[in-house]
Amino acid sequence: MKESNINRIRNILSGEFTAKSSISIGYEKETDNHKDGDIWEDSNGKKFIKKNGLVRSYSKLSSIRNTTKMPLICPVCGSPMTIWQDHHMWKKFRKCFSCVINEDTQRIINGEQEQYEKNKIKQNSKAWLNDLEIACLEAVESIDSKAFVTEMGDIEDWDAGHLDKNKLKESIKEHISELKEKLDIWKKQ
Ligand SMILES: [Zn+2]
Repeated sequence: MKESNINRIRNILSGEFTAKSSISIGYEKETDNHKDGDIWEDSNGKKFIKKNGLVRSYSKLSSIRNTTKMPLICPVCGSPMTIWQDHHMWKKFRKCFSCVINEDTQRIINGEQEQYEKNKIKQNSKAWLNDLEIACLEAVESIDSKAFVTEMGDIEDWDAGHLDKNKLKESIKEHISELKEKLDIWKKQ
């Protein structure tokens, strides 16, 4: 099973279904004499950086950093972001923990929280189910090894020997379409 698929399923199950499951950075063979840490531009205006002896495209690197790395200060309220809850909220809301709590509290005071949550779930649920279905089907298709080692170093056993892929895929499709029907009924309520 491909690790990128496992990561994708993990992201989906943990609610981070928009997170990129893999990030690829273009590595290029070094053709000049730049030192580690050097940043330079080629004739097309493309920026490069040399890191650990490898030349990488600098713009890609910095844009990845911008989307994934949490800033030290919350862009909304300006407070330092230091606690683990800040990391969690940053990934989902792009603001600090206390900003999220304050907004939630304000909505509760205004009596808007229930409607807000319902709308949010309704907006996301169909796309979420579609994503889940694709990821599950891809995951089943790519099962080819019996075990693999997770990022945490645990060995997860995915015994493919006794597995009927088509049966499993049918059952996934069935479950998801049941969920979609329930969703449609619920959305009309
Ligand atoms: Zn904040």
